[in-house]
Amino acid sequence: MSKIIFGIDVGGTTCKCGTFSKEGELLRKEEIPTRKDEGGSLILPDISEYIKGVLADMNMTTEDVAGIGMGLPGACLEDGTVNKCINLGWGVFNAANALSELTGIPVKIGNDANMAALGEFWVGGGSEYNSMVMVTIGTGVGGGVIIDGKPLYGFNGAAGEIGHLPLVEGETESCNCGKKGCLEQVASATGIVRTANRMLAESDMPSSLRSVPYISAKVIFDEAKGGDALAIQVTEYVCRYLGKGLACAAGMVDPEVFVIGGGVSAAGEYFINLIDKYYKECVFHASRQTKIVKAALGNDAGMYGAAKLILGN
Ligand SMILES: [Zn+2]
Repeated sequence: MSKIIFGIDVGGTTCKCGTFSKEGELLRKEEIPTRKDEGGSLILPDISEYIKGVLADMNMTTEDVAGIGMGLPGACLEDGTVNKCINLGWGVFNAANALSELTGIPVKIGNDANMAALGEFWVGGGSEYNSMVMVTIGTGVGGGVIIDGKPLYGFNGAAGEIGHLPLVEGETESCNCGKKGCLEQVASATGIVRTANRMLAESDMPSSLRSVPYISAKVIFDEAKGGDALAIQVTEYVCRYLGKGLACAAGMVDPEVFVIGGGVSAAGEYFINLIDKYYKECVFHASRQTKIVKAALGNDAGMYGAAKLILGN
C-alpha cells in the first residue's frame, strides 16, 4: 500500500517540494532551485533526483508513493500536456509523462494558480465550501476555479485566467501576455504601483506618496488606510476593477466563495471590504451575497493543491 504523496509547486526561481501523508499531513518541506538553463531541460531531472533522495532518506521505495502532483506556471491540460511555460523556457510537451518516466511514479499536473486554489479548497480559506474561485494577487493576478472539488482546466488549459480578463478600456501599454487592458495591468502589485504613478503624474493633488522614496502596493494601502486622498483614489480604482473581475467570474461560475490570496492580500480587511463593495455594485443580483474571504496557506497553497490532485475528490 502506498503511503505518501509528493506535492511540487514549480516556480520561476524555486520548486517548493512537499511530502504528504495520504491523510494530508505535511511530513516535510524543502525548496530546490529551478534551473532554467538549457531550455528548462534540467528542471524535471532535478525534481526526480530530489524525490529519489527523499525516498532514500525515508527508507521508502517508489512503491510507497501514491503519486506526484505538480503545479506549473503555464497552461496545463488534464492529460499532462503543458502548453508553454514561458518562465521555465518550456514549449509544448507531456510533462507528467516525462517526470513519470524519470521517477517510475504516476504524475499529474495542473496550472499553479489552479493548484493554489485546490490547496485552499482542501485545507485553507475555502475548506468549508463546495465550490470556489480563488484570485491570487501578487506580481501578477492569477485565478483558479474549483467546482465539486475538482479544478477546472478548460479546453485549452486556460480556465480561471482572471488576470487577463480584458476589462480596462483605453489602456495603451501591453500586458505580459501581449494584450492591452488586462485586469492584471491595474490590479497586480506592479499594476497597483503603475496606477499610482500614473495618477500622481496626472494630478496636482498633494499626497504623502509624493515624498515616499519607494512606492509599493503595501505603502499605497498603508497611506490609504491613513487617509491620504490620492492613495484612497488609487485603491478605490484598483478594487473597482477587482470587484468587476469577480463579478464577471460570478456571472460564469457562480461560486459559493471567493478566496483572495497572494502578497497584496496582506492588506487585509480594508482591501477585501473595498473589493466586496464594488463586487456588490456590479454583480448579478442572485450572486450578491457571495462571500469574499482571505486565503490561509500563503506560499504553501500550490504545494498542498498539487498533493490533493493525487488524492482526488
Ligand atoms: Zn494579460
